[in-house]
Amino acid sequence: MKWTVLGFQSPYPGPGGATPGYLLETSSGKYILIDCGSGVMAELAHYLPTYQLEALMLSHLHHDHIADVLTLQYALHLQHIQGKRKKPLPVYAPRRPESWWQKLRFRTVTEPVDIESQTKIDVDGVSIAFHRTDHGIPCYAMEIREGFRTILYGADSGVKTDWENMCREPDLFVCEATFLEAQIPEDNVPHLSARQAAQAAERIGAKALLLTHVYPDNDLEDIRREAAPHFSGDLYVAEKGWNIAL
Ligand SMILES: [Zn+2]
Repeated sequence: MKWTVLGFQSPYPGPGGATPGYLLETSSGKYILIDCGSGVMAELAHYLPTYQLEALMLSHLHHDHIADVLTLQYALHLQHIQGKRKKPLPVYAPRRPESWWQKLRFRTVTEPVDIESQTKIDVDGVSIAFHRTDHGIPCYAMEIREGFRTILYGADSGVKTDWENMCREPDLFVCEATFLEAQIPEDNVPHLSARQAAQAAERIGAKALLLTHVYPDNDLEDIRREAAPHFSGDLYVAEKGWNIAL
C-alpha cells in the first residue's frame, strides 16, 4: 500500500497548503481518502478524479479535518449527473458532534457510516481498526493493515492516548506534532509536541515516524530537530506530496 500526504498543516493552511488529508492506495490500485481538510480537494485532483474514490475515512469532525467534505460532495454530485459514478461514497466517521454528522449525508452521493459502533472494517483487502484517542471530541486513530504491513494513523491526540494497547511495531506511524515544546499551552490541550510524538513512536517500536499536523508557521527543520533525539527509527516530517510505499 502507498501513503501520500495531501495536507499536513493545522489549524489552517499556509500559502498553497492544506490541512490534514492523506491518500491511501491499496495494492490493487483502489484509493481511500483519510481526512479531508481545507485545500485537500485541490491536492487530490493531482492524483485521481474524485469519483474513483473507494471510501472516505474521517478521524473526527473538527473543521481542519472535514472542511473540504462539502465541496467533495458537490464534485460527486456533478459526477453522478455526468454518469461517471453511480454508487454513494461511504464516509466512515464518528457520530458526534451530531450537527456535523448530519452534513455527511448529501443527496445520494455520500453515505455516512458510524465508526463509533464499528471496531474494524475491510476495504479492498485493507483492514482498518479504529481506536479512540485522547481528544476534545470523539476522535479515532486508524490501524491500517494489508498483508504483513501496518500503518498507524494517530489522528489528533493528547498525551493520554494509549498507543501501546493500540498497535505495536507499525511500519509507519503517522503522528501529529502540533507544537514545539516551547509552544505547549499551560492548559491541557489535547495535542502533542514533536518530542511527545517521537517518544510515543519509540514506545511502540514504530519502524518509521511521519510527523504531521503542524502549525503553518513552524519550521519543519525545528520539528525534526526536536524529535530526532527521542526516536531511533526512520524520521520524516510531512510535506505536500510526501509518500511511501510499504
Ligand atoms: Zn486537527
